[in-house]
Amino acid sequence: MTETDTQPDPWTGGPAVILVRPQMGENIGAAARAMFNFGLTELRLTAPRDGWPNEAALAMAAGAEDVARAAEVFDDLPGAIADLSYVVATTARGRDMAKPVFSPSDAARELRRRHASGEKVGMLFGAERSGLSNDDVALADAVVTIPANPAYSSLNLGQAVLLLSYEWMRSGAAPELPQTGRGEAAPAIKAELVGLFEHLEEALVRSGFLGIKEKRPAMVRNLRAMLGRAELTDQEVRTLRGIIVSLERYGKPPETEGK
Ligand code: SAH
Repeated sequence: MTETDTQPDPWTGGPAVILVRPQMGENIGAAARAMFNFGLTELRLTAPRDGWPNEAALAMAAGAEDVARAAEVFDDLPGAIADLSYVVATTARGRDMAKPVFSPSDAARELRRRHASGEKVGMLFGAERSGLSNDDVALADAVVTIPANPAYSSLNLGQAVLLLSYEWMRSGAAPELPQTGRGEAAPAIKAELVGLFEHLEEALVRSGFLGIKEKRPAMVRNLRAMLGRAELTDQEVRTLRGIIVSLERYGKPPETEGK
């Protein structure tokens, strides 16, 4: 590491990069290297196929070994994004979901704007073979598609991470953008949002609205997309959960009413 000893302080921080069920260690290492080239240091993995730590990943990471070594491993995506308030899902395929679709540079600008105002943000990348599932994408706030040859639009995982990391670096050169008009309220983190989703979905199963089992996954994704678009604050999540509780009480005998 003598080479880095004489170099300027590294750029660190930025959005978390979350590799969802990655398969090849080489691609995880390539992702770590691409991240560190452009000043990103927070790598998260969900259920890496070949386990973790992974020798092939460390070898491929080369000078960014520290980023690879520090990768945090989670069982699933909700766990991996629990502390974040805004995430984008990268996908080559158009998804029929009511979410904004950004170019890499627009996504980087939006991530930069939120990061600058103190939000914890992240970028999701799918597995080599299958990409992100619809349920993964449903948890994201926006979709990012790298424009590419329509006959062959799927980039290598590490190269997709490279491109988004590069755009992140470039977005730092842009002038400050105006804030959203949310005032002082903090946007909900994903753990709060998933808590709300699950609370609502359980209540809707009980009420019969989600009674038809076969229709449930698609309806749940639509509901999650709808609520995700609202960019709820943590206070709004608490209010909605209070509303669900009060509606569930409604119609029950008076002694079960809140006092
Ligand atoms: N076979 C998968 C693609 C996997 S490529 C599929 O059909 O979806 C691995 C990952 O790299 C993808 O899940 C995505 O996160 C990213 N990626 C690859 N090409 C991309 C593109 N054109 N735009 C955005 N992300 C892309």
